[in-house]
Amino acid sequence: MSAPWFDVAIVGGGIAGVGAAAGAIDSHSIVVLEQENELAHHTTSRSAAVYIENEGGPVFHRLSTASRPFWDAHPGSETPLITPLGVLKVGDESMADAFMAEVDEASRVTPSIRFVRDEALLAICPALNLDIVRVGMHEPTGGAIDVMGTHQLFLRTARAGGADIWRNARLNAATRVGEHWEIETEAGPVHAATIVNAAGAWGDVVAERCGVVPVGLNPLRRTAFTTTISDDPAGWPLVYSGIDEYECYFKPEAGNQLLGSLSDEQLSEPCDARPEEIDIALAIDRINTISHVGVRSVNTTWAGLRTFAPDRNPVLGWDDMSAGFMWLVGQGGCGIVTSPIASEIVGTRLRGEPLPERVTDLGLTTETLAPRR
Ligand SMILES: Cc1cc2nc3c(=O)[nH]c(=O)nc-3n(C[C@H](O)[C@H](O)[C@H](O)COP(=O)(O)OP(=O)(O)OC[C@H]3O[C@@H](n4cnc5c(N)ncnc54)[C@H](O)[C@@H]3O)c2cc1C
Repeated sequence: MSAPWFDVAIVGGGIAGVGAAAGAIDSHSIVVLEQENELAHHTTSRSAAVYIENEGGPVFHRLSTASRPFWDAHPGSETPLITPLGVLKVGDESMADAFMAEVDEASRVTPSIRFVRDEALLAICPALNLDIVRVGMHEPTGGAIDVMGTHQLFLRTARAGGADIWRNARLNAATRVGEHWEIETEAGPVHAATIVNAAGAWGDVVAERCGVVPVGLNPLRRTAFTTTISDDPAGWPLVYSGIDEYECYFKPEAGNQLLGSLSDEQLSEPCDARPEEIDIALAIDRINTISHVGVRSVNTTWAGLRTFAPDRNPVLGWDDMSAGFMWLVGQGGCGIVTSPIASEIVGTRLRGEPLPERVTDLGLTTETLAPRR
């Protein structure tokens, strides 16, 4: 049987992969290769689902801001994909100067961000323990994202344009032959002019299987859980603590539930990540220290891999050492928030167009995102 031909083979059926397919389907024939039996099985289905603009450093901050029009207008979706949720980063007294400096910088991109302290913190989240928490950075315009709704929207768009979606189709090897790739997958061979590597924690593994030099990705495990508390947290923001010995976060969920996490970053092999009991116990202890929520037991636990490049900035663009190979990895803790603009950028780069203006207006260039920067 001869191998089918596509313009682009996208490796990975998480939010990055299906987003890339949606962004390029108007101009390219596409196959998405996913190693699992279901799409979004790994990091995409394990996130905290929060829209924070000032997160992950200046590059991610700007990509999140550039994604905002999509979240506000949700083109192609009849229902909103984001609901309002404030975000409050908290610290102790020693962090006041650093927070004020960060607010000064971050509010140039997101003007609503402001510095708060003492009793004003309780007006935002009455459960905080002011014996520990004294200052905060409040981003009132954050949101809770419908992650699977967004994934489905990208998938529908790609499928409507004719994309093929292959499950149980792990890319095992790929060889560049002239102007195209000959790809071996668990579901059979396929040929494509371009490979887009959206394999998340496996990004470097996929590169090596294609004979491409890895970029040095670090998959870092993060653990999360849900719990039921006695207070009704409706109206609270996501609270995340930047205090070294009490790093953690909690987020209100429906039905008196909280989502909690230690904010852990444990280096891991690419794998189906599992939660460690110690990380759950530590998270509960810290949340109970910085607040009065009184977490006692957990309902569900899980873990996922947040994958970072060595400089913790996203890797998005053509590999200038390997013809026909594009990277879309290293999204760290911002891969859901930034998926709309990443989808658009992949489309423009595949078509040889410049970056969207609202990206360059914020000072980002192809070089900022380049794999070999
Ligand atoms: C606890 C936690 C909280 C988070 N909170 C947030 C948040 O609030 N906001 C936010 O924006 N982000 C958050 N993130 C990060 C976000 O989830 C990720 O950035 C995002 O999901 C990455 O998507 P992806 O498609 O790149 O990766 P994945 O969803 O992991 O997709 C990669 C896919 O590639 C497939 N694959 C790998 N190798 C191969 C191969 N050889 N052949 C075929 N397929 C292959 C995998 O099976 C996988 O399905 C959080 C993450 C965690 C773990």
